Amino acid sequence: MSERNVPFVIPLVDERQRDQQRRLPVMAPAALTTASPVLDTLHRPLHDLRISVTDRCNFRCGYCMPRAVYRDHRFLPHAEVLSFEEITRTARVFLSLGVRKLRLTGGEPLMRKDLERLVAMLAELRTLDGQPPELTLTTNGSLLARKAQSLKDAGLQRVTVSLDALDDAIFRRMNDADFPVADVLAGIEAAQNAGLAPLKVNMVVQRSVNEQQILPMARHFRGTDIELRFIEFMDVGSTNGWRLDDVLPSDEIARRIHAEHPLLPVAHPRIGETAQRYCYADGSGSIGVVSSVTRAFCGDCNRARLSTDGQLYLCLFADQGYDLRTLLRDGADDGLLARAVTGTWSQRSDRYSQLRGQATRTTTRKIEMSFIGG
Ligand code: SAM
Ligand code: SF4
Ligand code: SF4
Repeated sequence: MSERNVPFVIPLVDERQRDQQRRLPVMAPAALTTASPVLDTLHRPLHDLRISVTDRCNFRCGYCMPRAVYRDHRFLPHAEVLSFEEITRTARVFLSLGVRKLRLTGGEPLMRKDLERLVAMLAELRTLDGQPPELTLTTNGSLLARKAQSLKDAGLQRVTVSLDALDDAIFRRMNDADFPVADVLAGIEAAQNAGLAPLKVNMVVQRSVNEQQILPMARHFRGTDIELRFIEFMDVGSTNGWRLDDVLPSDEIARRIHAEHPLLPVAHPRIGETAQRYCYADGSGSIGVVSSVTRAFCGDCNRARLSTDGQLYLCLFADQGYDLRTLLRDGADDGLLARAVTGTWSQRSDRYSQLRGQATRTTTRKIEMSFIGG
């Protein structure tokens, strides 16, 4: 593959503004059938549910929870956090609407006490065609070595581990916590030994901060069964001081790796796949690049997000959620919950990353959001 085959693509620009719906629209009972997928206004099916199980974290990654901002942060009190029973019930409703994949996230999900119990409860659920849901988890890996086997035993299928550097000093600069890389690598090894596979490793790339770790990370994971995915630094939330200049375009990342280890693009991406995948020409595995800034993939985004306090978010960059917790706690039956989710999803028009090009070019308005989990 020549350099010309991995061009830098200008972000898509669109004139339309996002809808800002504030109500929780409830679909009429007659309009809801489980036979057809629930589609949003852009015909995107509801396929994935990401569940944030805690808003707390033992890291303070500058791109996510900068310490200066989160030092005096008021985390959610226990009463506001969805219980495992509430999460499981909500997940069951989503599965009844065609969702097939559940991903636990946060905050740091392994900080939630007894997470294995939740995993076991979710693993008992079934999709519309009677199969267990795909059940995965994204973690910073810090507690994984001691939890991998019990999570697997509880029914977790796969994990994605975030790791931004192999060099301890750079790793620390990224996550602002006193934690050795070796412990995360031990967590990855424990997950592999437990059979939480195929494993993925996420590396957020920030220009001038950890870009020099791209090649060492690629070398380290090449030839393993682990897929390393490079994620462009995103303007999530309003506290990470994001600047377009700090984004290293994923095409540039692929070019750098390609120069050392030739890559071939993987031809047929799966629907809803966030990463553009390449395999090493010599057969030594694959990498992915997640180009949320330079090449928006809103067109087939099929992910809903449930926050720790039971709000339904339709986009990583949403500035508001829809309150499912009140419905859950006010005695709504599953039918009403399902109609609320369907009504909300069917009005969805979010495609922030496609619209970002417009916002960054005019630089008159930066779209803000609060932290809602990955
Ligand atoms: N604590 C867990 C972890 O770090 O894996 C799960 C939650 S974290 C919010 C989920 C993913 O979002 C991680 O892979 C993290 O690197 C990524 N992430 C967080 N903030 C980001 C940002 N500003 N740009 C790109 N990726 C980000
Ligand atoms: Fe914590 Fe994950 Fe955010 Fe880092 S990216 S601060 S590990 S939640
Ligand atoms: Fe999905 Fe929103 Fe990301 Fe677009 S910006 S891919 S709609 S989460």
